[in-house]
Amino acid sequence: MKNEFLKGLTSDELEILKNKGTEAPFSGEYNDFFEAGIFICRACKTPLYESSTKFNSGCGWPSFDDEIKNTIVRYEDLSGGRVRTEICCAKCDGHLGHVFTGEQITEKDTRHCVNSLSLQFKAYTKLEKATFGAGCFWQVEKIFKATVGVYLSSVGYMGGNTDNPTYEEVCKGQSNHAEVVFIHFNPDIISYLDLLEIFWNNHNPTTKNRQGLDVGTQYRSVVFFHSEEQMKIVESSLNQQSKNWKNPIVTQIISAEKFYRAEEYHQNYLNKNSLGSCGI
Ligand SMILES: [Zn+2]
Repeated sequence: MKNEFLKGLTSDELEILKNKGTEAPFSGEYNDFFEAGIFICRACKTPLYESSTKFNSGCGWPSFDDEIKNTIVRYEDLSGGRVRTEICCAKCDGHLGHVFTGEQITEKDTRHCVNSLSLQFKAYTKLEKATFGAGCFWQVEKIFKATVGVYLSSVGYMGGNTDNPTYEEVCKGQSNHAEVVFIHFNPDIISYLDLLEIFWNNHNPTTKNRQGLDVGTQYRSVVFFHSEEQMKIVESSLNQQSKNWKNPIVTQIISAEKFYRAEEYHQNYLNKNSLGSCGI
């Protein structure tokens, strides 16, 4: 590692970045962390990873399936009696971790396994949040992911009465969580009202706890608002929409609660599995 970037680093950071150590699995501050922003090198501050490339591999370290172009260098690493590919920051040569391919967890089939201590997170403060439930979250995520102005989308559960629900629990309908898509969007590119328009146009808001063949409270039509302003926009948008439907709209409008990110195999599901839709 280049000496000019060592200044100001703690002994724990030096152990990783300079001496190529590894922090204990599940111990790092960014392991279970899915905010919208950018991860920079802790030593030289170069942006290395967009949070939109971060996923949960279950390995215990932050995982990314792509790097910001030209910011990472790769070295063959024969330590520990196996052949691995070490990754370092291209600018300061600080050690980040290792990169693996062929595990088929995400579409890009690549896992940058990075120490939290090699990174520093900078939030994108201009982005706003939105959360929608409109039936099977696979299909809803596919639509919003493809929408220009949506930076980050994740599927998960909200509005129930248990902590850390699993898909199985939510499917049984006992926890009362809704399947939702949680979005970070850039309001300079797309407005909240435009997102609502997409929401209304892609499901039936007049069927209570049901979308097509999918029946249960987890499939309810619901907008979780993240501000008073959003609440007002949803309410007037719902009034506007009711003219388009024969039956009354039953969509719930509720203040956003804690978002529980769903298991990794549900994220970006239809694109990963080359499926057109989930059969609604
Ligand atoms: Zn660096």
